Amino acid sequence: MPAIAYLECSRCHHHVSIETRHHASMPPSVCPQDGGALLVRYAMETLRTAVRREHAAELAARCGSSVGMWRYAEVLPDVTPVTLGEGWTPLLQSRRNAGLMIKDEGANPTGTWEARGMAMAVAMIASMAENHAAGQRGAVHLLASSRGLAAYAAAGEMKAHLFLPRDLSLPEYLGAVVHGAEVHLVDGPPGECGLRLEEEIHRRQQAAGTASTDLWMDLSPLREPFRVEGDKTLGYELVEQIGWQYPDALLYPLCDAVGLIGVWKAFEEMEALGWVSGRRPRVYVGRTATSGLAAELESMILGIVIASGGRVVAVDDGANLVSLLDWAGKEGICLSLQGAAAAALHPLLLASGEIQPGQRIVLVNTAAGLKDADTISHAMPLRRPGSLPSSLPVGGIITPV
Ligand SMILES: [Zn+2]
Repeated sequence: MPAIAYLECSRCHHHVSIETRHHASMPPSVCPQDGGALLVRYAMETLRTAVRREHAAELAARCGSSVGMWRYAEVLPDVTPVTLGEGWTPLLQSRRNAGLMIKDEGANPTGTWEARGMAMAVAMIASMAENHAAGQRGAVHLLASSRGLAAYAAAGEMKAHLFLPRDLSLPEYLGAVVHGAEVHLVDGPPGECGLRLEEEIHRRQQAAGTASTDLWMDLSPLREPFRVEGDKTLGYELVEQIGWQYPDALLYPLCDAVGLIGVWKAFEEMEALGWVSGRRPRVYVGRTATSGLAAELESMILGIVIASGGRVVAVDDGANLVSLLDWAGKEGICLSLQGAAAAALHPLLLASGEIQPGQRIVLVNTAAGLKDADTISHAMPLRRPGSLPSSLPVGGIITPV
């Protein structure tokens, strides 16, 4: 496993030592100079001679498929995994469109692509907390505005505090509380959860000062450098699954396109290692009316999309639901609403001539469709047959913590 050379600011390229992060009482989560996102950098020249892409398949052959994304240990931080079996998700061929492949991230243990980054971030924080054990470190609190953290916080014996929109679906809510997360329901526009989280972490860190041994960590996108290290395994995987080659294009939903930052980093690293060559895929991003992102995220994503020669394409809010039902009924794949926004791009780009029949196109379905059960059933419209049982075999004694 490689040694980390330093953390690099994505804005000003300032270097932050990894020792600073491991030994500070309040580890920096962003660039101390301008608040930019920190990216993990390795000594690539040394790695180039020391690691081989074949190692991934050999490791998986030894450890079985449960090794998941950790098959890329040679290009990941040296850490004991906190794993629920994330990664190595299927790359399925479309039954109707030659060359179109679906990278199904809904097959991750928490039903979302975020499992990769959360697993890596929680593993790194667990290792950091262990290093501090001699200093009587207290509880570790993790804050995020996505449900995907809850299971990994439980697996890492940490406390998750989630800021989620009040209108979230029942499966999403259940996916948080069943793992013991503390859920703060937030009213207001899409960005409001992130703002509430920022206020809370600021308040907690101020209050903690030097008196408390508890650690409060922000796991929002780009506020925790190791999430991107997990996210990047998606890029390694899809290239390996196509035979260590790039596809011609990637179709991504805008609201989950923060994952692209990791995928693009993977492409840079694989080229530096000599694992892949040729033209990187054009990236097309589907934007619906409701897909809002923080300004910094959006500008990083737009930078990637433009550099790739792709573009952001508006998708009608109704069109992604039509696309979802089409894929579920005709191909047996229940996309998420986000994945369906990416799928809706395919006919649009074929019609515009930006992609050609037979080209290798990867559609990234970022989450499992059933998490959107409320929205899908409301739109169909579909009501629950029968009623809930009046008593449960466990006696109804299970309540969220
Ligand atoms: Zn900076």
